[in-house]
Amino acid sequence: MKIIIYILFFLIGIFIGSFINLAIYRIPLKKNIFTERSFCPKCNHKLGFMDLIPLLSYIFLKGKCRYCKEKIEIKYFLIELLSGIYIVLLYVSMNFRYYFFEINKIIYFFSLVFSYVIIILISEIDKKNRSINKSVLIFGVIVQCFYIVYSFIINSCVFYRYSVFLGLLILVLIFEKYIKKINKSNYYIELISFVLYINLIIDSILFALVCLVTLIFSLWDKVIKVVKRKANLQSIDYKEEMTNQNKVSIGYYIGFSTLVVILMQNFTVYFT
Ligand SMILES: [Zn+2]
Repeated sequence: MKIIIYILFFLIGIFIGSFINLAIYRIPLKKNIFTERSFCPKCNHKLGFMDLIPLLSYIFLKGKCRYCKEKIEIKYFLIELLSGIYIVLLYVSMNFRYYFFEINKIIYFFSLVFSYVIIILISEIDKKNRSINKSVLIFGVIVQCFYIVYSFIINSCVFYRYSVFLGLLILVLIFEKYIKKINKSNYYIELISFVLYINLIIDSILFALVCLVTLIFSLWDKVIKVVKRKANLQSIDYKEEMTNQNKVSIGYYIGFSTLVVILMQNFTVYFT
């Protein structure tokens, strides 16, 4: 029985991952994420049902477009796989036992699944464009506010902490808009809004842990880059790529660290 539930959540996860892939590609281009049919970004050919099965299509097509034979980025496959695994782990971490009496826990679980989607979207878009997507962020904040109000009514959670962060977040968003008007977009101000959003999801103490994990992730990435650079010292293309990569997408690391910390927190809360 357990195995069937795990498989079910894995399937839900990879479909969520498939949606995330589509959204990561379309949102920065300001394309509609619901109406348009999917197409290959290289040859623009419309994709059929058989090209859109999460994980399997990539495996059967051997990572190439059916129509133009161009390589499909492995990133798409990895995000689907990661989403499947993450949703299963999230489910396991909740340690559900008496489903019918655990409505609060179920709603909390779904709020975390939703936060996962928002955080991955912001992280991946940041990795690619080095900018925090405001529409995604605001959508995430609105839904999170509903959840906070719900838990306030049910569990009378500490409301003032959230209102402080929410107030700050609104101020930052207004300030950012003002700065953009005088034609300067500031990545660090965008980052602050992302950090404030994360503080609406997890406790501030846990956020300290997020910072620590972020540091570990980014250092690890640096080490890998240095090793790669030593191996590819001769290649000119690679040197150019390195100068482009000098600007770090901090939001990307913060996002992934948050997802790891959320899992860690759940496991410690529900298994002790
Ligand atoms: Zn193609």
